[in-house]
Amino acid sequence: MTASLFEPLIVEPVEGARARVCLIYTGGTIGMVPANPDNPSSPNLAPASLQELLRYVPGLGEQERIELGLLSLREPVDSSSISPAHWLAMAAAIEEHYDDFDGFVILHGTDTMAFTTSALSFLLNDLGKPVVVTGSQLPIRELRTDGIHNLAAAVSIAGYPANDLPCVPEVVLCFMNKVFRGNRVTKVSSASWQPFDSPNYPPLGRIGAQIRLREELLRPLPEAGRRVRADRELATNVRVVFFHPGMSPDELRDELLNAEIEGAILLSYGSGNGPDAAAFMQVVREATMEGPGDSPPLPILNVTQCPEGRVEMGLYAASAGLLEAGVASGLDMTFEAALAKLYWVLPRFPVGERRAALQRDQRGEQNEELHDIRFALDPGSTGPITSAEHVLEGNFGRQGVRRAYLRLSGLALAGEPASAGVARVSLRARGTDGGTAERLVTEIAAQDLPRCGSIYEDVTALARDVARPGVALQVQLQGEGGALSCDAVSLALYTDVRR
Ligand code: ASP
Repeated sequence: MTASLFEPLIVEPVEGARARVCLIYTGGTIGMVPANPDNPSSPNLAPASLQELLRYVPGLGEQERIELGLLSLREPVDSSSISPAHWLAMAAAIEEHYDDFDGFVILHGTDTMAFTTSALSFLLNDLGKPVVVTGSQLPIRELRTDGIHNLAAAVSIAGYPANDLPCVPEVVLCFMNKVFRGNRVTKVSSASWQPFDSPNYPPLGRIGAQIRLREELLRPLPEAGRRVRADRELATNVRVVFFHPGMSPDELRDELLNAEIEGAILLSYGSGNGPDAAAFMQVVREATMEGPGDSPPLPILNVTQCPEGRVEMGLYAASAGLLEAGVASGLDMTFEAALAKLYWVLPRFPVGERRAALQRDQRGEQNEELHDIRFALDPGSTGPITSAEHVLEGNFGRQGVRRAYLRLSGLALAGEPASAGVARVSLRARGTDGGTAERLVTEIAAQDLPRCGSIYEDVTALARDVARPGVALQVQLQGEGGALSCDAVSLALYTDVRR
């Protein structure tokens, strides 16, 4: 069904072509003309055809001897009307014509360009060729247009064999003087010549008289022999909740629980904070543990409203409730990338794996990964030592551990007069080679326990020493003067993303 959104491909032969680029036209300002042809000076614009647009760049590609394939949406759109069906159609078209071209250029409106570049990055598995998305702030037919520059630069990058540029094996957004990773961008200006920014990842390249690409920042090429595969499904039945002062718990309940949805994004304050009133947290807990209506527990992704920085739940009491309720961290993802990732993860991963899939890097959309380890303590244990073990998984090494936080909630010492005892928390690691290491995390005098019933400890140094994939980590609670009990123990391990 998606393929039919496009007209058939037209190829314009170029003699002695050194590269072949497929130009995919979806609409946007770059190809717009006055909506009312009887009123050519009207600023009210609507998309025109690809042929109309190409009139303003005669011989595009010829100078660099790049042969162009032309593929246009049957109905080009203002990008505010772009839908996930368009994304699936673009990904399917790239897969279909993959072997015939060195790279792809997508012409697109700027309003939702960052959503499209994010979505395509997830949909295209094992992408080994450039997919360069661009557009313009002024229509290409206008004298002061930025469209010619943007289009020509995009064609040069996609047609890299023709001009000795490196292959960019990923979805990028190229605009004015910069090339950005597609799932790191956000639109920051409605009128500037540079309407995009990539706040948490540096530009992949600069466009001046020369195009300079930073190869060390690019995604790696897929393994030899692998060809692109486009995913065919996105689940869009999700809610986006924008926390704001004055919001009521009932509003949150309507969004998360009184709706048949499959997932949600919480756009939170700062480093992942939300109103911590019990009524709010109750709604979040119901959603993550039981799910709305008859649906399974709801995957909820916490994404910061700040353009720059990252979510770090647990840093403030105002995010601890979200952490304990099992909300996934959006880390430093843009909202655009987080939404596309949620749409993509839902149909692709089983219910039990979605949270981990959301917190792991999939396409270079985040700077680090969160391994969110929940230790299952034996609830019946009354002995002096209670422990729980978890075998670490993932793909990180000693250098890879960035930060680690151990969180215990509801700590209590039973038996003896409270003032007499001591609560001791330690971490033990059993390596794959059989070696063990043990470190004391904290020791708390019993009289201090009621005050600090929950503890949140930075265990980074310790985790750097012992945490590796395959290592069995054990949390041990030892009560001196009575059995030490605890409601929940979790370890948040932040690791580097492996390129
Ligand atoms: N409304 C236009 C669009 O997104 C804006 C643009 O292209 O810059 O299609």
